[in-house]
Amino acid sequence: MSKIIATAAIRGAHKLVGQAEVELQKAIDKYGKEHPVDYPNTAYYLPIMYLFLGQKVQKLGDLEESMQEAKKLLADIPSDELWLPYLGDTLDSGVATLIAEETIEALKYLGEQNPVQGIWLGFTPDNILRLQGIKLVDGRMPGFAAIVGCTKKNEDAVKLVRGLQERNILVFMAGHTNGRAIAEQLAEENIEMNWDTFLVPYGKEITAAVHALNFAARSAMTFGGIEPGDMDAARKILLYNKDRVHAFVMALGADKAAEDSQLITDDKYATAAGAINFGFPVIADVKIPQILPTGICTYEHVISGIRLEEIISRAIELRGLTIKIEKIPIPVPYGAGFEGERVRKENMYVQFGGKYTDAFELLRMKPMEEVEDGKIEVIGQEIDEMKEGEAYPLGIVVEVAGRDFQEDFESVLERRIHEFISCANGIFHMGQRNIIWVRISKEAHAKGFKIKHFGEILLARMHEEFSKIVDRVQVKLYTEKEKVAKLIEEAKEVYSQRDDKIGGMTDEDVDEYYSCTLCQSYAPNHVCIVTPQRLGLCGAYTWLDCKASHQIDPHGPNEPVAKGECLDPVKGMWKNINDYIEVKSNGNLKRFNAYSMMEDPMTSCGCFECIAAIVPEANGVMIVDRDYTGMTPVGMTFSTLAGQIGGGVQTPGFVGIGKLYISSPKFISAEGGQKRIVWMTKQLKEEVGDRLKAELERQGISDLFDKIATEEEAEDPETLLQYLEKIGHPALQMEAIM
Ligand code: SF4
Ligand code: ZN
Repeated sequence: MSKIIATAAIRGAHKLVGQAEVELQKAIDKYGKEHPVDYPNTAYYLPIMYLFLGQKVQKLGDLEESMQEAKKLLADIPSDELWLPYLGDTLDSGVATLIAEETIEALKYLGEQNPVQGIWLGFTPDNILRLQGIKLVDGRMPGFAAIVGCTKKNEDAVKLVRGLQERNILVFMAGHTNGRAIAEQLAEENIEMNWDTFLVPYGKEITAAVHALNFAARSAMTFGGIEPGDMDAARKILLYNKDRVHAFVMALGADKAAEDSQLITDDKYATAAGAINFGFPVIADVKIPQILPTGICTYEHVISGIRLEEIISRAIELRGLTIKIEKIPIPVPYGAGFEGERVRKENMYVQFGGKYTDAFELLRMKPMEEVEDGKIEVIGQEIDEMKEGEAYPLGIVVEVAGRDFQEDFESVLERRIHEFISCANGIFHMGQRNIIWVRISKEAHAKGFKIKHFGEILLARMHEEFSKIVDRVQVKLYTEKEKVAKLIEEAKEVYSQRDDKIGGMTDEDVDEYYSCTLCQSYAPNHVCIVTPQRLGLCGAYTWLDCKASHQIDPHGPNEPVAKGECLDPVKGMWKNINDYIEVKSNGNLKRFNAYSMMEDPMTSCGCFECIAAIVPEANGVMIVDRDYTGMTPVGMTFSTLAGQIGGGVQTPGFVGIGKLYISSPKFISAEGGQKRIVWMTKQLKEEVGDRLKAELERQGISDLFDKIATEEEAEDPETLLQYLEKIGHPALQMEAIM
């Protein structure tokens, strides 16, 4: 442990705690101690205080207590005579620093200094945390990098983040070096920065780096099922992060204003000490003193003097990340970081589908001899013959052959086309089947991206992801109007046959359900039981998906589980399933009902698409999706609800569900099914509308759809009840739900 670092970190902590106290006092003088203080849309109060102190900060007065605690953690700045080569004081100062930074950042939300402006995004709300969390869970995202500072040249900054994006590493940015921040460099180079592109600029001050750590703290609480509060919880959360959230800090550039002619300012050292508490090591391009292994981080704590060209690979080694890099022969960068990227109209070269032209994608199984592996055909115009700004028809037909391939897998593979294509930088892809919408950006076109490159992407990814079942792949890309018009009709025929097949499949038709334990990497006791009529709560895994996934990787997260004796057909309980979940939940669960939310319901890991909760006043249930940030009739926002039910525990009355389950004939059938739905968010109601209407019609209760209230009718139970009484909602006449 270097003394220089300890001195700098402790000195930095003193300074930041001092600054936080001054700002807090100013805020209290102005607003009073009772004035509320919070971050937007989170159920975790100020997460750093909640984690380390078990403190639920809600008003300015509470922060005085936080500051007292921070001061207790501050060690004296070591003098020359009294120097112990001991990391503890530095780490405690790191925690004090984080408390100070959380205070400073939270105070910004009082209004004076809006932290969300220009390129800066400020605090990450819980709904985004969940969305990104599943990417950490399923391995699409191997970890995150928190970048502090800037590079010498803008082009180095672009190269660095492109390298991280290609490796699917989430990038947080905070702080600056000599007044310049990497996010500003990227903005100058027109790099799109937001949650969809995995490039997240938190704020220009170093204090905004605390948002990366409160993100990590909440990940552990959300997905790890760890209750915050005592010091042991803090230890568990830190261990959890060290083991499961593969993150590191990248400090770039030398600060001219650094104290004692060191290369980095004291407040950066102090913040680094805070990150080391989470087991997140620091990697720097300038030669600051190193801290080698002592046990907190998995490997070294601080390594420095690393050249920019090597910094990513050194960081990966340092943190032990597993990275899959797809090498695909296309002229644009490729990686999950680009998946959510949009191509705006001004930046578009050409587009396909949407409301402009016919476009579709279809994956079909063919006999071995009809598929020539690696063949790509463009039938119609290539991009060189297309005019800038125009819309063209597009048919993407993927033909696969494999000894173990089954027709049932077609739709599973086809659904991945969206993700595969979206990961190319400068390509936008939305929708599936015959409702796709694709754009190629001017930049991608300038780099030489062609229609045939869609084929290259699909060949590479299909082989990579499905090597167990796919031996040969060929791709046909149609851009000829008449051909596309004809083929789209044939494709529609195939889609509807498939729908009949899975849609028509019932839980009674099969002897085996599938488990999914993918989320155990985050929620160690959580198990999803996926049945034909109830998909995984994340919405990403249907029974067929699990079946395919099991065949592709028999030792993977999905296993068939024989149902065995049926113990209760109405609630959906089977003997073998109970035995299975008892083992897989490490003894935490004994019984499970597939169709009930009141009695032994399914547990939730944290990445549910929606939450269904009972509204006792209305004798029914409401369903809220994770994009809805408003208030619900149970008096809780999605974030608050999610905080209560995540982490792999059963919470009667509340259940995490996938959107498709809402229109399933088995939707909480133990409690009476869809007739119980009294409230849904407007957006969700629209989204699942067609399927839900069809199911209601099947049950002969078509009029129910219009009786389901949304936030436009009510956001509290009293107004909701009045509304339901007025329109005569059937839930009011049903037997008491509790
Ligand atoms: Fe996680 Fe369940 Fe989805 Fe599997 S099905 S990824 S366990 S939420
Ligand atoms: Zn999950």
